[in-house]
Amino acid sequence: MQPVLTIMEKEDFKLLLSKLFTYFQKVPPKNQAVDLWFSRVNSIPLPAAKWIARQIADRESSAPYNVAKAFLDGWRDYKQAHPHLFVSELKQTECGDCHGTGLLFFKAFNEKLNRDQRVMCKCGSCSNSKRHVGPKVRIPTYTLKQLKEQNYEIV
Ligand SMILES: [Zn+2]
Repeated sequence: MQPVLTIMEKEDFKLLLSKLFTYFQKVPPKNQAVDLWFSRVNSIPLPAAKWIARQIADRESSAPYNVAKAFLDGWRDYKQAHPHLFVSELKQTECGDCHGTGLLFFKAFNEKLNRDQRVMCKCGSCSNSKRHVGPKVRIPTYTLKQLKEQNYEIV
C-alpha cells in the first residue's frame, strides 16, 4: 500500500525554512527554534507546506518572525484556496480509532528514500475524514485494526 498524502517531517520543514530564509537573505533559523515551530505545524501535509512557503516568499517582504504562526495562517489559506480538497461543514462524530479526527498517522517504509516516513490515511472506522479531505484527494482508507495487523507503527 502506498499512501499518497505525505505529512511534512522535520527534515522537510528545515529544508523549506532554509530555502525561505536564504530567499530573504537571512541566516536559516537555529535548530531549537525549528523544533519549537515544528511541534506546532507537524500535521500540515508536505504539498501544503511547500505551497505555504511559496506564498510567504511571494507575498512577504521579509522572513516571518513567528514562523509557526505564518505556517498556521498559511495552512488556513491553503484550505480556503483548495476548497475541493476540504469539506469542513460536516459534524465530527466520536471514534475510538482516530479520536474523531478522521485521519490515522503511521510510519511506512519509503523505498525511494530507503527509510520510514510519517504518512496518513483516512480512518476506516468513521466518516470524520470527510470533514478534512474531499473526495478528490487520493488517500487510502484503513482501520486502526488493519494497520496494526500489518505491523505499522501508529504515530
Ligand atoms: Zn475514525
